Amino acid sequence: MILLGKVLCAVGIVAGLLAIFWRDTFNPDTISGTRVLLTGASMGIGEQMAYHYSRFGAEIVLTARRETLLQKVMEKCLQLGAKKVFYIPADMSSSQAPEKVVQFALQKLGGLDHLVLNHIGSSPFQMWDGDVEHTRWLMQVNFLSYVALASAALPSLAESKGTLIVVSSLTGKFSTPFTASYSATKFALDGFFGSLRQELAMQNQDVCITLCVLGLINTDAALEKIRTANLKSATECPGRLKCSPTGFGNK
Ligand code: NAP
Repeated sequence: MILLGKVLCAVGIVAGLLAIFWRDTFNPDTISGTRVLLTGASMGIGEQMAYHYSRFGAEIVLTARRETLLQKVMEKCLQLGAKKVFYIPADMSSSQAPEKVVQFALQKLGGLDHLVLNHIGSSPFQMWDGDVEHTRWLMQVNFLSYVALASAALPSLAESKGTLIVVSSLTGKFSTPFTASYSATKFALDGFFGSLRQELAMQNQDVCITLCVLGLINTDAALEKIRTANLKSATECPGRLKCSPTGFGNK
């Protein structure tokens, strides 16, 4: 009985400490008037982030390729309470696009407090088929454009003591089958922005870098990719992995 009391007491103390340290200290008022550049904003997670920023009264520049979708997202952002919203269509496979987009945002908002890097190029969920050109293109869209956007925005973020948010994935931390090129681009983000975070600290630059490591989120694009996944060759593989469209494991 005494032992049980001690255990319950210890559990209570641990639970109390966890509640203190994990309490949500986020204050929505701090986002009001924040100047945000958000990429991949026409659908999926980017679109939803645009609506969250809007509810908190941010000033936002949205970008992605499809103008009609950006226009609709902009209208909804304004209804939800965004103070200002602009959009600029841009294809991040073009090496000129990042500079153009950041300059547009700086001109419209007069500076930047948050840069949210979220866009991704489409990449099939399938076994590596040797398509080096696709990997090169995906590195440009998913990685090099992030580096270029961050570089162009850093002076403004340093001035505002701002925040750089990089949306990554579990596949940028752990390798899994069927995602070789995508996974490579996400690992590259971790390496680059992890190193940059340390260099900014060494230079006493007050820019916060957050890498978001997401698991599967049920966006339309993610669900469609899983639905149309080409795992046929995987089910025929004679190697170590025993695969099926619903899962895989070691033999
Ligand atoms: P999504 O629905 O496919 O949206 C991708 C966004 O990127 C769209 O707005 C798309 O708009 C834009 N885009 C695509 N190609 C582009 C290009 N060449 N240039 C500029 N913009 C381009 O993706 P999501 O599922 O929301 O994922 C968002 C982020 O979360 C990504 O970084 C992804 O890696 C990460 N993530 C997602 C999941 C998940 O399960 N959903 C899991 C882990 C991590 P346009 O087509 O109009 O250009």
